[in-house]
Amino acid sequence: MSLSETRNRIDAACRKASRDPSSVSLIAVSKVQPNDRVQAVLEQGHTLYGENKVQEAQGKWPDFRTTFPDTQVHLIGPLQSNKVRPAMELFDAIHTVDRLKLAQRIADQAQSLGRCPELFVQVNTGEEPQKAGITPAETDSFLAELRQMDLKIAGLMCIPPVEETPSLHFALLGKLAARNGLTGLSMGMSSDFEEAIAFGATHIRVGSAIFGKRDYG
Ligand SMILES: *Cc1c(COP(=O)(O)O)cnc(C)c1O
Repeated sequence: MSLSETRNRIDAACRKASRDPSSVSLIAVSKVQPNDRVQAVLEQGHTLYGENKVQEAQGKWPDFRTTFPDTQVHLIGPLQSNKVRPAMELFDAIHTVDRLKLAQRIADQAQSLGRCPELFVQVNTGEEPQKAGITPAETDSFLAELRQMDLKIAGLMCIPPVEETPSLHFALLGKLAARNGLTGLSMGMSSDFEEAIAFGATHIRVGSAIFGKRDYG
C-alpha cells in the first residue's frame, strides 16, 4: 500500500485501456488519516487530495497548504447548504452537487466570491435509498436546470453499491455524461479504480490503497 504502487497500477490500467496516464487525476483521499501519513504523501510531491467533511478539512488543510502551496483539495462527501460558503472558500472542486437548492446556493456564492470550484453532479446509479445523488432518470433535466443557473459542470460522480459489479455503474455514468456533453467522470476507489479507468474515469478517489486502512477508533 503506497502512492508509488498505486501510480504503477494506474499506469498499467491506462496502458491496458490505451489511455494517457495524464488523463486520470489521482485524488488521494485523506479523510480520517493521521496527519503524519498525509504529510508523508505530501512530501512525496503528491498535490491532489480528497476529503468528505468540510469541518475535518478546515482543521488540516489551511496549515498543510502553507507548507505545500500547490496542494488542491476536493470535497467528495455530502455538502449541507449551510456549509456552502466555507466549502467554496476551501475546496478546488465539489464532487457532490445533488440538489437544486444546493446548486442555487453555489451559484449565489459564486457571484459574491467571483469564482467557483469545479463542480461534479453526484448520480446515485444504484438508486440506493441511503445514498446521496440524483437518480439516473433525473440526470438530463437536473443538468439542464444547472445550466439555467449559469453553473459550469465538469462532470458526473458515482459511488456504486458495494455488492454489485462496479463496471455496470461506471458504464452507466459514462453514458449519462456523454449524452450531456460532459467529459469529467469521478469514479473508482481503492477496490475498483482499474475498472473505472477502463470505463473512462478522469478522477479516481483512492484512500486506503495509498494511506492504509482508516482507523475510525
Ligand atoms: C472514502 C471515500 C473514498 C476512498 O475510499 P477507499 O476505499 O479508501 O479508496 C472514495 N470516494 C468517496 C466518496 C469516499 O467517501
